[in-house]
Amino acid sequence: MTLNLPLMDIIRNYSPMPDSPQHLPENIAFIEQVLNAFDEPFYVIRAADFQIVFANHAARKMGLQQAQTCHALVHHKDQPCSGADQPCPLMQVIQERKPFTVEHLHYKPDGSAYYAEVHGYPLFNEKGEVEFMAEYSVNITARKQVENQLRQLQRAMEFSANGVVITSKKGIIEYVNPAFTRITGYQPEEVIGQNPRFLKSGEHSQEFYANLWKTIQQGEVWRGEMTNRKKDGSLYWEYQTITPVKDENGAITHFVAIKENVTERKQAEQELERLAMTDPLTGLANRRTFFDQAREYFSFAPHPIGQLSVFMLDIDQFKSVNDQHGHAAGDEVLQEIAIRLNRNLRPGDLIGRYGGEEFSILLPRTESSTALQIAERLRLAVSSSPIETQQGAVSITVSIGICRAGDNTSSLDDLLHCADEALYEAKRTGRNRCVSYTNKS
Ligand code: GH3
Ligand code: MG
Ligand code: MG
Repeated sequence: MTLNLPLMDIIRNYSPMPDSPQHLPENIAFIEQVLNAFDEPFYVIRAADFQIVFANHAARKMGLQQAQTCHALVHHKDQPCSGADQPCPLMQVIQERKPFTVEHLHYKPDGSAYYAEVHGYPLFNEKGEVEFMAEYSVNITARKQVENQLRQLQRAMEFSANGVVITSKKGIIEYVNPAFTRITGYQPEEVIGQNPRFLKSGEHSQEFYANLWKTIQQGEVWRGEMTNRKKDGSLYWEYQTITPVKDENGAITHFVAIKENVTERKQAEQELERLAMTDPLTGLANRRTFFDQAREYFSFAPHPIGQLSVFMLDIDQFKSVNDQHGHAAGDEVLQEIAIRLNRNLRPGDLIGRYGGEEFSILLPRTESSTALQIAERLRLAVSSSPIETQQGAVSITVSIGICRAGDNTSSLDDLLHCADEALYEAKRTGRNRCVSYTNKS
């Protein structure tokens, strides 16, 4: 290794600070070896003329040679550093007389740029002047890239229409974006440090949440819809994607939840479903829904099937009501009958608009004598007082056929058929009455 004479001079003659003279080792070659071992560019610049008086191995690899000015090779196109973006470390060190650190764009011999963190240290002569500056630079391109990516990510999250929540691996919230606040009403400071369970709506089972947690704990992505509760107590629907974030060893460090507010779509879907299931005139279950709900009683009945009763209810002489008062008045009668019937049923009883002016009713857990009592109550509820319509009050009676589940009537279709037969019997024997199905009828 050739001895670097300027370095020897510098080390002999200059101490790092004017008031702390150092005892110098004799072996300059040793010091040069030490500086060469430093894998980042280390160089010494003369303050008077920006001349490089020493460049270590890493600096020389970057194209920095002795007897050149620092900006000749370190800076692009031989431009000296200037301005707020690229302040000249040497000028700073001369002015401030203390170490200076700055981020600079440096250029490799092939012309490619990289970000360097530059550290300049003043070396004072015996008059106390900054005669040299020792400088080393560290390539921080990788760190800058990560910082840039993070800044872009953060900006994307700040402007995202979707809520973003980042939690620790234990599920403690570390970050929420503005969309989260817009959707839920919670400010970041109210939720950071909390477990997101405060959003729980109570609409999902323990298993639902357990399954979600298990999925993400296994390092898999969870996707699904759920209802959550806003700060004001109201519910909203969201489509959520929860992604585990892993370190280079594959260990989970964080979870990122992207939350899309799908309340409007969900409400529209529920409204469509409701429209498909209900009769628009009376708001009761339509025939198909009545069948679907009634079948569930049969398949999952926790009670003996023999306690089920079915009614078929038909308005008496309804055609003449339409003829006398008009179809609109007939519609009002249908609506009022639906209200009166509903008012006289128990929770858990099913009612549907079976046809034009026919209603079907299913009573679970009902003894036959009780079924007859209920049918009488319904009949009276309709007939006891006239129904007010735009065309005036209309007196209405109804006939009801009753069938109780038994040996010969174990399916819903059987029950409805037998109730219909009993209804026919009620009509035949004078209307405005309730008739129970018997094998004779
Ligand atoms: P019965 O006592 O034998 O049942 O006599 P009814 O006149 O009620 O029986 P029918 O089956 O002859 O007539 C049923 C009438 O119900 C015919 C139809 O105009 C009327 N109707 C069916 N659906 C509607 C509806 O949605 N609105 C109105 N206003 N009338 C309806
Ligand atoms: Mg009819
Ligand atoms: Mg009728």
